[in-house]
Amino acid sequence: MTDFRVGFGYDSHRFAPDRPLVIGGVVIPYELGLAAHSDGDVLIHAVCDALLGAAGLRDIGTYFPDTDNTWKNVDSTKLLAKVVDLIAEKGWKVNNLDCTLILEKPKMKPYIELIISRLAELLRIEPDRVAVKAKTNEKMGFTGAGEGIAATAAVSLAK
Ligand code: MG
Repeated sequence: MTDFRVGFGYDSHRFAPDRPLVIGGVVIPYELGLAAHSDGDVLIHAVCDALLGAAGLRDIGTYFPDTDNTWKNVDSTKLLAKVVDLIAEKGWKVNNLDCTLILEKPKMKPYIELIISRLAELLRIEPDRVAVKAKTNEKMGFTGAGEGIAATAAVSLAK
């Protein structure tokens, strides 16, 4: 019998000027980026928390605290690679990832395939095991007002 786990992650970041917008390890051309200690990759952070949660580990801030300058402006794909190593050490392999971005702008459609490829590569799985959706919040709340971006991620792990 295969051991099987499910994890869920959420993250949000505020838009800020003079920052690159990085989502799912892909640089998106836009006039604003996301404020953060790291590169602000909201999607990768949600994915990290989902993976850690599924493996029964602590949250992303435990492993990469924003008080540690090692992680200042860090490329979040490096954090995800470390998280994948952490769960692999416990014998877990990613079965699938399903995530949703919530934002009014920019339009994500041109970048979804690229983000899926990048995430699949980082998770060491086939792209058809990764789903990335983007939706607006119908102008409601902070994402609806264009103040920032939120992301959710659900993963399953198997060993
Ligand atoms: Mg974050």
